[in-house]
Amino acid sequence: MELSYQSTRGKEANVTASQAILKGLAADGGLFMPSFIPKLDKTMKELSTLTYQETAYEVMKLFLTDYTEEELKSCINRAYDSKFDTEEIAPLAKADGAYYLELYHGSTIAFKDMALSILPHLMTVAAKKNQVKNKIVILTATSGDTGKAAMAGFADVEGTEIIVFYPKNGVSRVQELQMLTQKGKNTHVAAIHGNFDDAQTGVKKIFGDQEFADQLEEKGYQLSSANSINIGRLVPQVVYYVYAYGKLLSGGEISDGERINVAVPTGNFGNILAAYIAKQMGAPIDKLICASNENKVLYDFFQSGTYDRNREFILTSSPSMDILISSNLERLIYLSTGSDAAVNAGLMKELSETGSYTVTPDMKKFMEDFVGGFAEETENQTTIKALFDSTGYLIDTHTGVAASVYHQYKNQTADETKTVIASTASPYKFSGSVLEALEGTKSEEDEFKIIDRLSDVSGTQIPQAVEEIRTAPVLHQSECDKDKMKEAVMSFLA
Ligand SMILES: *Cc1c(COP(=O)(O)O)cnc(C)c1O
Repeated sequence: MELSYQSTRGKEANVTASQAILKGLAADGGLFMPSFIPKLDKTMKELSTLTYQETAYEVMKLFLTDYTEEELKSCINRAYDSKFDTEEIAPLAKADGAYYLELYHGSTIAFKDMALSILPHLMTVAAKKNQVKNKIVILTATSGDTGKAAMAGFADVEGTEIIVFYPKNGVSRVQELQMLTQKGKNTHVAAIHGNFDDAQTGVKKIFGDQEFADQLEEKGYQLSSANSINIGRLVPQVVYYVYAYGKLLSGGEISDGERINVAVPTGNFGNILAAYIAKQMGAPIDKLICASNENKVLYDFFQSGTYDRNREFILTSSPSMDILISSNLERLIYLSTGSDAAVNAGLMKELSETGSYTVTPDMKKFMEDFVGGFAEETENQTTIKALFDSTGYLIDTHTGVAASVYHQYKNQTADETKTVIASTASPYKFSGSVLEALEGTKSEEDEFKIIDRLSDVSGTQIPQAVEEIRTAPVLHQSECDKDKMKEAVMSFLA
């Protein structure tokens, strides 16, 4: 059976992988899903001897079926190279009985690099395959992390331009400097006078503007999105769960076929969905522990079967998980209906009209491998400190949420299954909150002073990516009003 892609809302089908990557979102507002989830065609034992890049090929070839071996291997080798500060790409660290899968060794020291370092290459190959002659313009609004990861991924990738909008006073100094010092002739960033919602709304408007698209077309450009719902971001994330299992096996930590649990700090539901797909492909994974912060909409959903976004939005110390609409959950909902696009589309309509929907008991049963949990701010801090005090291992505030929920789960169930915890950011990306967890008080110092103190207090080394921005020249300085974003795009492309 040939694998193809279809929209979770039913209006698009028989789309190739490369077309789905170019489009990002389906025209009916749905997400692209493969027509079936392929099985790994090598045993875990065989996979356990492979490098990260080789594992990536074995997993991704099964989904990206219209890419040749040569094309896919070239994308993989260009993505997972010395941009990562370790040859293992995603190393596993054992601490306090759990295995932390460190997904933050790429250029922006957070897990979005795992997919955003390969997406640009997948996209340029897709453009060639589909006879796209235009330059691809990636347009993104960011609350801090995604923008830099996308800029770093697309920097100097031929045939692309990357334009990022961020809220002028809405990102941390380190996040801002990361963007403003980004090299690459095709990278552009503007601070908008407004908040993240203004940036996001402005970008969405531009995507929906046909007249503007025609104007760009005349100049030889077309827009595309690097959003986390792109299948070209989901598929690369499946790789590291297969790789982690292989490393546990080859390292003698587990026996062949032994099942493991996975705990994931969750926001948009992309990372944990990738773990679920790895399981469906045949990786011996048992429970998928879905960890939320105080924005616990997913915890409530897995408890009750009702998804309800009508609640207060809480700002936490794990900002990349401060989300009330987890877009990628739609893919699981779709699968739980037996791939019934009409039922899924109905629920998503309810979500947009009323802010909530309820799944049937059968659908809820379908999702029983998922265990929801959440951690409050104080618990997160206690977990970070206790882990550091007992082992010397330092984790960030997002990973702290997952570690907290993992401990709760273990205490409640006495399930001793070995567990991989997805570690999604370097502690240095959220230095202020991590230092606060260790010292018990919040520091008002300048961010670089905090970084130096965190290094002193924890005895850990400051990552190269942070050292670089301390002295790197600022290369971008555009600002724009929130209703002048189209003009900004045009002037960047001129
Ligand atoms: C994006 C992000 C998450 C959430 O991942 P999802 O795939 O959106 O669930 C968690 N931690 C960090 C550091 C992130 O940047």
